[in-house]
Parts: sequence; C-alpha cells; structure tokens
Amino acid sequence: MLLHIGIDDTDSPAGMCTTYLGALLYRELSRIAEPADLPRLIRLNPNIPYKTRGNGAVAMTFEADEDLIPAIKDTVISYVNRLADFTHENTNPGIAFLEGEIPEELREFSLKALREHVTIQEAERVAREVGAEYFRFKLGRGIIGALASIGYPLKRFTYELLAYRKPENWGTPRRVNVESVFLADRWSYPFTYDNVDYYKRTVLITPHGKDPVLVGIRGIGRGKVLQTFERVKFEEPVAFYQLYKTNQNTDDHLVPKKIGELKLYDSAVVRGKVAGPYWERGRHVFFELEDETGRIRVAAFEPTKKFRNWVRKLLQGDEIIAAGGVKEHKGVLTLNLEKFYPVKLVSKIEYRKPKCPRCGGTMKSKGDYLKCKRCGHRMPKKLIPVEVPRELERKIYEVPPDARKHLSRPLVLPGGEERILELV
Ligand code: ATP
Repeated sequence: MLLHIGIDDTDSPAGMCTTYLGALLYRELSRIAEPADLPRLIRLNPNIPYKTRGNGAVAMTFEADEDLIPAIKDTVISYVNRLADFTHENTNPGIAFLEGEIPEELREFSLKALREHVTIQEAERVAREVGAEYFRFKLGRGIIGALASIGYPLKRFTYELLAYRKPENWGTPRRVNVESVFLADRWSYPFTYDNVDYYKRTVLITPHGKDPVLVGIRGIGRGKVLQTFERVKFEEPVAFYQLYKTNQNTDDHLVPKKIGELKLYDSAVVRGKVAGPYWERGRHVFFELEDETGRIRVAAFEPTKKFRNWVRKLLQGDEIIAAGGVKEHKGVLTLNLEKFYPVKLVSKIEYRKPKCPRCGGTMKSKGDYLKCKRCGHRMPKKLIPVEVPRELERKIYEVPPDARKHLSRPLVLPGGEERILELV
C-alpha cells in the first residue's frame, strides 16, 4: 500500500527546520518501509505572511505493509511532537496522511496553495473529500502545507542536498571553507547554481539562522549535486545529509494574469504598459503598470540591489512583461518584481542645445537665450530633439541570487525564460 506523508510548519526563526525533521523521519521510516522516491521539499506560495523563511513543506511516499501503517503514523506524530518548536507562537504544525493514489482534487488544492492564499478550513474540507487523515497542533495551519506537499504534481523539479549540523553547533557561525565552495561552483555551474555570489565574493549555500542546516546545494542533476557537496570542505562535522527532490527554481508559481485580476498573495506574470515615471522611497524603486483591466504598483525593493538600475531605465509607455508576487506594501497592493522583459520600448528623446550657427562653438543657456561660449553670439533658446539609444535590451532581467524566491527559475537554467515568453 502506498502511504503519503506530509509535514509542515514545525520550525520558527529560533530554530528547527521542517526538512531536518523530514530527513530524520525518512531515514527512520526507510528501515521498515520502502521509499517510493526521494523525500520532496515543496515550496508553496512565497507571498503568504505566515511563513518562517521560504514556505517549505515536506512530503514522502512509502510502499508499506498495511499492518505497519499505524506504527509509521505513530512514528511521524511522535517525531513532530518531539522536534517541532511548539514554543513559538507562529509555529502551528500539521501532518497529513493519504493512502493509495493521489486524487485530482488534491493536485488542484496543491496548485492553489502554491499560487494563492488558502484557509485552514479549505484544507480540512479537501482532506475530508479525498480521505486524507490529518493532525493539527496548536492552530494547525501546517495542514495546508502538509496536504499540498502530498498532492503536488512534481512534473518539473530540481534537487537540493541539505547537510545538517551537530546539535552542539546550532546557533554558532557555520564553518565551511569559502575557497572550496568557489572551486566546487566553478566545477559544476550551472548544473548546480546559487552556490556563491561572484560580485560580492560571498558563499550562498550556508543559511544564517539558528536552524540545523549547514549547507544547501541546489542543482538540476542529482549526480552533480552530490559531487559538488563532496568538493566542499567543511570545518565542522556534518551530522548527516539528505537529497531532496523539489519544486524550487521551476517557476511553477507563476501564472499569466490580467492586472485587474491580481489579488493579495498571488504570484503572476502580467503584460502591461509603464504608466508613469518611476519614483523611489527608502532605496526601493516603484512604478505603475497598467493594462486594459487595471493598474498596479510594481516594486523593486532594496535587496534586489543592481536589478533596480534596470528598473530605473523604464520609461512611461514602455510595454513590459513582469513576473512577481502580490503583497501589500504600506497599504497598497504591490507586485514585487522577480523578473521583467521589455517587449516594446518607447523612443527616448533628449533635448540638446544646437552648436553656434556663426562659429560652431558650444552654446550656454542664459535664461530664454543661448549664448556662444566662443564668439558670444546670442539666439533664442530653441533646443533640438535627439533620439538617444535605450539602454534596455530585449532580454529578461532577473533579481540577483540572494534576492531570488526559492521558486523562481534562474535564467541560466533551461526553461528559465519560458513563463515570461509565453506572454510575448
Ligand atoms: P521553512 O522554509 O524553514 O520550512 P517556512 O517558511 O516553510 O519555514 P512554515 O513554518 O512552513 O514556514 O509556515 C508556513 C505556513 O503557511 C504553514 O502553516 C503552511 O501550511 C501555510 N501555508 C502554506 N501555503 C499557504 C497558502 N497558499 N495559503 C495559506 N497558508 C499557507
């Protein structure tokens, strides 16, 4: 009998990580049942406010003897009871179990949890309808992710190898040899990616929190991911590691929408015209985008760093395709930009002073007049319109790796442009 297990919301900023709990469980359960595949790390809607970090849930499937199923369920429940961080008010664990094939209704629920906002009641209703068993702890919001991770149709996927720290090192700075990460990256990029930031000369595989993760190595081939891990030199012991199959970097969250349809917490790709000049507040860059159905504020926030320079080059009337998540920023619905593609750019006209008609010298503005710097000739100020090149190309611009959502597909990967180009 196939038994699917989903777990979510066991961690808090103070510690723990659902993938750690999942990896321990996977090892334990693999002793008594046959895993159908690797465990799955499923990222859900990146825009919802309850997430601790990347809104990740964990699922795994076993082929198990029917008489062992109660023992397996007890093990899962006892692991969550033992390891979840119940002290944190925003940690509301949930567990789901489903036996047999995955019903279509659960698949649809998963995609909704990926792209929109869903309620605990909706999750409970779906669980009842598909015959899934669930356990709620505290508010039990985790059943949303637990169910969604079971039902997720992982048609496109990547891998992440997660290596964990010994408990005595949790909360201390991670000791990983920086040079070895750069060398490993040079060897495997782009089959593994987001290992380092070449501009900032920083390592990206180590998180910064108190959680048990030592490094996470992402890639499109499991062999390359494992070999990259072997090339990294660790200066603290690795407790153990687990390879996960994941929907990270698939762009699965993005759906084409009209601007008028956008709702809070949606992830979408829209096509529209820049409605006016950009403006800045506290290092964030904003502009408005409109189509025939409506208008939305678009933001490139400070952490997107150099990406903002490209956004600043957009002009009123430019037609672009924009991908991102809808959030509320200071009470206004705002599309947080992940990628954009200029489809049609308006001409950029600059008004320049003519040369002196008498001697060819440079003219200087003097109120309503122009005066030649060389011969002193004066004439009314009549500027000449000149079309200047636009500095944006017809290509997709994306935020830098450390500002990228887990689900967003880097352009360096095959298919990284697909979701945007669908709207061209
Ligand atoms: P980590 O990445 O370290 O595992 P996290 O960012 O995954 O942490 P969680 O602790 O899992 O954060 O919290 C996310 C919560 O939001 C979970 O309870 C999950 O069930 C719920 N959730 C997931 N997707 C949705 C959605 N689309 N709508 C509403 N709630 C959701």
